[in-house]
Amino acid sequence: MGFLVLIRAFLISNLLVFCSLPICSDASFSSVSASEIPEKFLNLAKSPEVFDWMVSIRRKIHENPELGYEEFETSKLIRAELDKLGVKYKYPVAVTGVVGYIGSGEAPFVALRADMDALSMQEMVEWKHKSKNPGKMHACGHDAHVAMLLGAAKILQEHRESLKGTVVLIFQPAEEGGGGAKRIVDAGILKNVKAIFGLHVSPGLPVGKVSSRHGPLLAGTGFFEAVISGKGGHAAIPHHSIDPILAASYIVVSLQHLVSREADPLDSQVVTVAKFQGGGAFNVIPDSVVIGGTFRTFSKDTFVHLKMRIEEVIIQQAAVQRCNATVDFLSSEKPCCPPTVNNEALHQYFQNVAGDVLGISNVEHMQPLMGSEDFSFYQEAIPGYFYFLGMKNETKGKFPSPHSPYFEINEDAFPFGAALHATLAARHLIEIQTKTPLIRDDHHDEL
Ligand SMILES: [Zn+2]
Ligand SMILES: [Zn+2]
Repeated sequence: MGFLVLIRAFLISNLLVFCSLPICSDASFSSVSASEIPEKFLNLAKSPEVFDWMVSIRRKIHENPELGYEEFETSKLIRAELDKLGVKYKYPVAVTGVVGYIGSGEAPFVALRADMDALSMQEMVEWKHKSKNPGKMHACGHDAHVAMLLGAAKILQEHRESLKGTVVLIFQPAEEGGGGAKRIVDAGILKNVKAIFGLHVSPGLPVGKVSSRHGPLLAGTGFFEAVISGKGGHAAIPHHSIDPILAASYIVVSLQHLVSREADPLDSQVVTVAKFQGGGAFNVIPDSVVIGGTFRTFSKDTFVHLKMRIEEVIIQQAAVQRCNATVDFLSSEKPCCPPTVNNEALHQYFQNVAGDVLGISNVEHMQPLMGSEDFSFYQEAIPGYFYFLGMKNETKGKFPSPHSPYFEINEDAFPFGAALHATLAARHLIEIQTKTPLIRDDHHDEL
């Protein structure tokens, strides 16, 4: 209770402080209707005050990339900027995560998400703000995602007194295989949150455009590693050994039947054995072989079934060759990630809002991709929508794909991302208030 009073006092004091800033005079939101929000927010996002600020934040983060659950400096920078804006936040969440709150402090709640982690790779782009951490690089654009969510925070905070509820800003750690989103969900951050939106930069889509689809968008992903154990011996007398190399070879072939012979051809799936390690000499049969790989599907049921069959095939095919096998799905180091499935109603909502922000001809339909996103953990808990934000500049030639050491960000895309984030949240709060009777119990303990 004391904390609630403290936050109210905090909001009031920051309202006074904030209105002394120049941007506030241009942002009296009370007289702006829901239909005017897109244009107003996009203009704000394009203003030098917001745009240059986002660019400078992104460049600072780019220079200091940090891997999953190690984003301490990134998190510190985010908190410093939220402090300057007067945005209240919770920290730490899921080790390095930061969760901000803007608005009334009361229901309804709508969440926006950005991921913070970099990749373990050496940047090859020579430019002024190149990574200063050898072997680490923001090669997936998460530096841009943080900058755009902060841009949205700045815009929303300017209009906080007019928000019809509370926007929850999730800066999450460890998207790149660490299951950071799952830990955010497990921390209870989505309690009473009605919807969540997330974006990813796309080098193949022109600036000013977005693309997405309803239903399955990205695949669910799992990893496996198996040890096939036989009995080592002299390669010239194989009948005194139990050969795990031959057993593992049969296993690799049998695993290929799962997609080609057992799966519905209209239900896209992948099983790839990408690792095969065993033996070290020309004339020695080794004791054991390690194989490993990944599997992908677009539905949870298919995912569970495929995972079960991978284990069965490995163990039973090993037994045919008189070997033993153990299978590890690496749930702690590489947690399985469910398919990213966009909510049907939110798809319609997104089409309307993105159409208003960018023009309907700039809202494209996309085919599903076999890549994955841990945003799916949020979508398992509450309705969620994930989309791609264009950043291709036709005049600058081809942009390398994410996870390339030559990956670059086109910062011209930032105003569109920030404005979309802010508009999606602000308008959704209005829609929820008008369509759904609020339940008194809807609250966040931290508010
Ligand atoms: Zn990535
Ligand atoms: Zn990414």
